[in-house]
Amino acid sequence: MNFQPVLDEIVATLRPQFGAAGTVARYIPALARVPAERFGIALRTCEGAEACAGDAAVPFSIQSISKLFTLTVAMRNMGDDLWQRIGREPSGNPFNSLVQLESEQGKPRNPFINAGAIAVADRLLSLSGPGAGHGAGSDGKAKADLLALMSDLAGEPIGYDDEVAASEAATGFRNVALANFMKSFGKLDNDVAAVLDMYFHQCALRMSCVQLARAASFLCRDGEHPAEGRQEVTTARQARRINALMLTCGTYDAAGDVAFSIGLPCKSGVGGGIVAVVPDKLTLCVWSPPLDATGNSLLGLKALELFVARTGLSVF
Ligand code: GLU
Repeated sequence: MNFQPVLDEIVATLRPQFGAAGTVARYIPALARVPAERFGIALRTCEGAEACAGDAAVPFSIQSISKLFTLTVAMRNMGDDLWQRIGREPSGNPFNSLVQLESEQGKPRNPFINAGAIAVADRLLSLSGPGAGHGAGSDGKAKADLLALMSDLAGEPIGYDDEVAASEAATGFRNVALANFMKSFGKLDNDVAAVLDMYFHQCALRMSCVQLARAASFLCRDGEHPAEGRQEVTTARQARRINALMLTCGTYDAAGDVAFSIGLPCKSGVGGGIVAVVPDKLTLCVWSPPLDATGNSLLGLKALELFVARTGLSVF
């Protein structure tokens, strides 16, 4: 199938609505300045064919989409041990909620809420070795390891937006609370400040739709690396499980509705990006900064609905 006309049609259909509805995330000051009328979409098939439209090559703050990649690192290095620290159930609570953590003794419901991703960041620091959390800005072994992975998967150099990371560090009071709370339950092994520094940096990764569609393409290829002939990124089983978590927990409190109306595993971020997977077919990334009331990109979800309606692709 030639997907280029499909993406062009989606951009043409949605263009009158670019920036017209929804709200750009304002709670991270550096994100509030992103122009609301940006819109990009890109996909990569399992065979490596690519198509893109709009601002598909413009880098943006991937925010919670990073949780997908840090989970991948933790799963492939830790296997089932990871699940002693983190659950696999939708939370039914806001992504930054503290309430459930109290009653569940510091074990986050899933790796895609903030508490879960902070617990995964703690695992990444441990996996990168002693002292991995030390280093200011983009330095530090764990941060360097994540950049190396993202650059390898995207096939070009990827960087952190240090201004966004600093902006989050200055205003992320809830994340500080979540991390301290987990530490008090003995659920973080590393220094709280180092764990948060890792978490704020992963959220501040800057990538374009094209780069994200490439980087996530192991998820539609049973874990195979985006480039032919390279060692697998995950096993086929792990890739299927990541897709399952995306479907059930990847779009905040809208996961049920997204499964109903789109029917694809998705992971969204408050920067307005959404990565979607059609297993055995393709990965797709759409970006439009204004968010709906559930915190998902308003036009991003509309674009995915149009894509599914037009192509008939769905996991159901
Ligand atoms: N860095 C954001 C936070 O921790 C990520 C939120 C998101 O994209 O869901 O609040």
